Amino acid sequence: MITLPKMIYKNPERGNVKGKCVFCTETTEYGFKKVFSGNFTGYNRLFEGNCICEYCNAFFREQKYRKSNFIVTKDNVNFLKRVEILENLLNLPNPPFFIYLTFTYQKQGWLGNFDRISYSGKRFYICTEKNVIYVEIEKLIGYIEFAKELREYKIPKKDMLSELSVNSLKKLEEAGKRDLKEKLEEIDNKNLWEVIVYGIE
Ligand SMILES: [Zn+2]
Repeated sequence: MITLPKMIYKNPERGNVKGKCVFCTETTEYGFKKVFSGNFTGYNRLFEGNCICEYCNAFFREQKYRKSNFIVTKDNVNFLKRVEILENLLNLPNPPFFIYLTFTYQKQGWLGNFDRISYSGKRFYICTEKNVIYVEIEKLIGYIEFAKELREYKIPKKDMLSELSVNSLKKLEEAGKRDLKEKLEEIDNKNLWEVIVYGIE
């Protein structure tokens, strides 16, 4: 099975614990003891097993993967600033790839989701620190266009994610764009919408 850590690390440092990895469920001859620091909070996202495989260990020990947005392919790790997220989602690399986005730059949101590799640029996964989102490219494009439109009318991001304030409604009415209110209420992939609003300027 291809996993996120295996895409990045070709020759990771080896341990000497044999068994099943709690991060990816793969069996290994070269794993490490499952030892976590006192502030580790991901226990509920671990699988059954007795060790951490050499690939997951290398990934887990590297702090930058917790503190970054990134798109990983077999030969590249592309770290993204928030403002670069949407253009990169619209110009995805050749599959397979793994997308991770963080809102707080603190959580190990990829835990439990190392297998969410995408094998198509038309239907793919975005792993965020909160959830894994299944994305259809047409929907993504439509949401980005709609988000841009709302920003043109100076609708705050907060309103885009909950409901329109009196002030925002007034802006739309004055522009003759009251129909955008209904369109906002019809957003059905809320998790994807959250990503788009996060990335939009
Ligand atoms: Zn593993």
